[in-house]
Amino acid sequence: MSLLTQFDQSDAAATGRELHRFAAELYPICRSITGEGIRQTLRNIQERIPLQLTEVPTGTAVLDWTVPKEWNIRDAYIKDANGNKVVDFKKCNLHVLNYSMPVHASMPLSELKGHLATLPDRPDWVPYRTSYYKESWGFCLSHNQMLGLRDGDYEVCIDSTLEDGNLTYGECYLPGKSSEEVLISSHACHPSLANDNLSGIVVAAALAKFLMWRELRYSYRFVFAPGTIGAITWLAKNREVASRIRHGLVLTGIGNADAFHYKKSRRGNAEIDRVAAHVLLHNSKAAETLEFSPYGYDERQYCSPGFNLAVGCLMRSVWGTFPEYHTSADNLEFIRPEKLAESLRVCAAIVDVLENNERYRNLSPYGEPQLGKRGLYRSTGGGAIGDEINAQLWVLNLSDGQNSLLDIAERSAIPFTAISAAAERLRDGGLLSVLPEG
Ligand SMILES: [Zn+2]
Repeated sequence: MSLLTQFDQSDAAATGRELHRFAAELYPICRSITGEGIRQTLRNIQERIPLQLTEVPTGTAVLDWTVPKEWNIRDAYIKDANGNKVVDFKKCNLHVLNYSMPVHASMPLSELKGHLATLPDRPDWVPYRTSYYKESWGFCLSHNQMLGLRDGDYEVCIDSTLEDGNLTYGECYLPGKSSEEVLISSHACHPSLANDNLSGIVVAAALAKFLMWRELRYSYRFVFAPGTIGAITWLAKNREVASRIRHGLVLTGIGNADAFHYKKSRRGNAEIDRVAAHVLLHNSKAAETLEFSPYGYDERQYCSPGFNLAVGCLMRSVWGTFPEYHTSADNLEFIRPEKLAESLRVCAAIVDVLENNERYRNLSPYGEPQLGKRGLYRSTGGGAIGDEINAQLWVLNLSDGQNSLLDIAERSAIPFTAISAAAERLRDGGLLSVLPEG
């Protein structure tokens, strides 16, 4: 039975609720590219799937980069002259410029304003801002909050540390028959932001859990790492593993209601690119496939020219194109249980194609074999043939040793699942034999 069929036997509504619950559990944690926030996040994932954590010390050279100091934060606020907290990190962790150096000072509003970021166009939302590689401090607040600040002195406090420590990433490895790997990668460094990228984290973890006890053709490696520097660090330390990656997906922004978008790998015609396009085509007419570009998420690192891995990126909304992107409006209401479940189903469908995309040979290629005597044809002639028989005829006709099942699915415009099921019936009927890989 195909992985997708197995997946479809589970309760999608319950799966969606569980995915959303996990996102809600991770949502309050103040993550960053290093520190206790991302470590705690990885530990929470570890409660669900086996996850190996790796710590890489500050100062380690990784490709053209260096692992930065570790950042941790306990508290931050701005108090007015009466001692009222007008901005409070404990209410929303986006209020602090992520990676702010420690500060405790008093200053007039005119000076404080140089350290404040707001979104005048969305006056009720708090922006998400970072300063990883330039030492700085600052606060983010809603524009209306800022307009409410009166002239006068303010006490600012950021109780953070920026010290030598480690960068942490997590890996879940599921061995298959082949040592060739499928990479699933999600960034895990954003604080209270739900679609970007708790959605990717919870779907990736659920996919790992779904695949965990199954017999697999490929080996699967799930990487949860901080964006950019995490993928770079992982690649620097895993060059040999990287050479075994045959297909890969970056999962991000897949919890909101938008249609799916798949960004192709740099190669543009890799098997994963065709698989994702095929699955999305049959999932919904609104889905779009995008050409590779060198900006985006961690596919930028996996598809850098030296590695050039067959790794694409599965999203719903594309980064930077939706108003909630990198703001407090990317919250737990913005991601929906049923959308998370549907994203997990699309991932399962993609894996199902990768796992079953074999080449077969028709063992009776001279004329159509007589399907009826093998119980593979309808018993009454006349009307149109059904979908199952049509899929069988396509598989028989194109299984000349050259075409994979995906080739046949693309050419016939029949979903891969139906083509794969037809191949299984024909094989059981003694009409097809699988060809060895390569
Ligand atoms: Zn982001």
